[in-house]
Amino acid sequence: MTTNPIYEHLGYTSLIKDKMVHRLSRARSEPRRVTFQREERISSPLLRRSALKDTPEKQCSYEKIHNFKVNVHTFRGPHWCEYCANFMWGLIAQGVRCSDCGLNVHKQCSKLVPSDCQPDLRRIKKVFSCDLTTLVKAHNTMRPMVVDMCIREIELRGMKSEGLYRVSGFSEHIEDVRLSFDRDGEKVDISASAYADINIIAGALKLYLRDLPIPVITFDLYSTFIQAAKIPNADCRLEAIHEGLLQLPPAHYETLRYLMAHLRRVTMFEKYNLMSAENLGIVFGPTLMQPPEQNALTTLNDMRQQKLVVQLMIEHEDVLF
Ligand SMILES: [Zn+2]
Ligand SMILES: [Zn+2]
Repeated sequence: MTTNPIYEHLGYTSLIKDKMVHRLSRARSEPRRVTFQREERISSPLLRRSALKDTPEKQCSYEKIHNFKVNVHTFRGPHWCEYCANFMWGLIAQGVRCSDCGLNVHKQCSKLVPSDCQPDLRRIKKVFSCDLTTLVKAHNTMRPMVVDMCIREIELRGMKSEGLYRVSGFSEHIEDVRLSFDRDGEKVDISASAYADINIIAGALKLYLRDLPIPVITFDLYSTFIQAAKIPNADCRLEAIHEGLLQLPPAHYETLRYLMAHLRRVTMFEKYNLMSAENLGIVFGPTLMQPPEQNALTTLNDMRQQKLVVQLMIEHEDVLF
């Protein structure tokens, strides 16, 4: 860290220094990013899974990059860069600010800042349509609370409901659930007394997943999964899907793992709810996977593969995750 001696006497640089040391020590003391690195010596996914199972419970400290806006920010009053601790010169456009945590740095320093953004709840106003990793980091949870709460409610009273996830609830009521989550976060009441129809809760969960700015299966990995689904050999196909899963951002992987375990339990009640893995694949395919470029033809062409990816993830949930 370079410090301009001119500002040493101001006391501000030492303040920034303390802050930086704190940042660094925090980064060090925090458990490392969750990685799902494959071990080379383990070749079959089944064995690999049992190896993964032996590791202790995964930590929920995901890495997150700062959300610096493209446009430079104009700070009122003197500001010092929170990365290099130097003064931010000029009257306007002195640097950039992370809109998730409020970190202020020079534009050139923004490229060097480590991915240690800890979103501030005062800045993260919404729950729906908020980036998945940003939301879980802001609320310090393993998964988005919408996913956990809706699944808990559905497992409590909806598993035998005919057409679960296929039958849609009243859209005004689903919209109401969305607004309540945005307003009250985890304090929202989605019990039977608030919403008697379980299809409203199922609809809210689907809406949450569909409205993510980056889908659970990210735009970057979309074609990896579509190509995997096209592999004719069943074992190779599963292996390719597994490879794709390992590349997902940890918060996305964890959300998907939890959702697939739930959907597998839904299929155990197929006799009542009439929802097979294939039916759920039709419903959740386009919800979890969206092509990076929306185009009617791609969407139509990929529908079969989207369905198949989700169907296979449900059927082989115990092997894949
Ligand atoms: Zn940040
Ligand atoms: Zn700087």
